[in-house]
Amino acid sequence: MITVPLLDLGPQNRALEAQFETAFRDVLRSNQFIMGPRLEAFEKDCAAFLGVKHALGVSSGTDALLLALMALDIGEGDEVLLPSFTFFATAGSVARLGGVPVWVDVDPHHFNIDLVDAARKVGPRTRAIMPVHLFGQSGDLGALQAFAAAHRLRIVEDAAQSMGARWQGRSTMSVGEFGATSFFPSKNLGGMGDSGLVTTSDDALAERARILRVHGMQPKYYHREVGANFRMDPLQAALLHLKLPHLPEYNCARAGNANFYHAALKGKVGIAENRPGATGQLLLPVDFSGQGIWNQFTLRVTGGRRDALKAFLTGRKIGCEIYYPIPLHRQECFAAAGYRGGDSVPVSELLSTEVLSIPVFPELAAEQRQWVADSLADFAAGKTE
Ligand SMILES: *Cc1c(COP(=O)(O)O)cnc(C)c1O
Repeated sequence: MITVPLLDLGPQNRALEAQFETAFRDVLRSNQFIMGPRLEAFEKDCAAFLGVKHALGVSSGTDALLLALMALDIGEGDEVLLPSFTFFATAGSVARLGGVPVWVDVDPHHFNIDLVDAARKVGPRTRAIMPVHLFGQSGDLGALQAFAAAHRLRIVEDAAQSMGARWQGRSTMSVGEFGATSFFPSKNLGGMGDSGLVTTSDDALAERARILRVHGMQPKYYHREVGANFRMDPLQAALLHLKLPHLPEYNCARAGNANFYHAALKGKVGIAENRPGATGQLLLPVDFSGQGIWNQFTLRVTGGRRDALKAFLTGRKIGCEIYYPIPLHRQECFAAAGYRGGDSVPVSELLSTEVLSIPVFPELAAEQRQWVADSLADFAAGKTE
């Protein structure tokens, strides 16, 4: 039987191994292990790639969100609109600053924040919105900006899963006051450890974030305010810099796999695209933005059969995972805090019982993705193993 891991980092990194070794030796011999020109060069190319004025390498995607919120003075009692259906860090970063996550629902088709629900949840203490371009698909960036302007909110884009994704030609991370992404190994631009990136095109906000990244220090040993150590290692920057030029080709290969699944499963019994009004046992994710980067290929499995499909695929040695099994308003740490909005996020509740992500990584072999598609068709046709 063919084995298909959910994600295999090996082939991508092996292809660049000789270059990584050279970069590692260069950093080693430079004796510069904190900040410096290697980090700056990487930041400059990231900013150009994303079409923003400033990019700051930081210690993780979570710290990128935290730093952005700190630079916007989000603190005690400030409300931030964010989806309940996302990774923990989106809300965790707000809560750590004493801010208040307000749970907003998501769209059942593109999985991004639902701005109609967000409008219902704006209150007098609401200061910001954090859209999450989930699974690699940008939300409607124009609508987002109009929403934020109408309600006088700041935008922090959680683009941890969407570096390189666009909406009508504009990059995610380029429309908010801040954008934040992650180079966690499973992201589209995956590092060899933890790191992340903060972007902004506002000079004053960039300067503030730069200072907060190093303990609020400016000049050396003079501290205007309390920051933290949010720095990215130059070694990590040097390694990621070698991968950055390949990001478009990695994203393209992911899209190729997604298109393959759609073509292979078109018209099969019980399978449909996850569009408004569609019915089927398996609903395939659609890239409504047309320029998504497929960090995940996430199915909706209806009729209470998600866990059955997970067991079925596992039995066929096909990796799959539930992103995410518990909407954030139900997490113990947040439920206890009693934040508002959690009683009206039915789509988040439903998706957490329906979603299953399957392999879509760029180096997926032809026979592997065929096996995945055949297996989905078999399951939808009623096979049990
Ligand atoms: C990965 C991820 C993060 C956090 O990034 P780290 O680098 O792991 O800290 C934040 N938000 C979302 C949506 C993510 O997927």
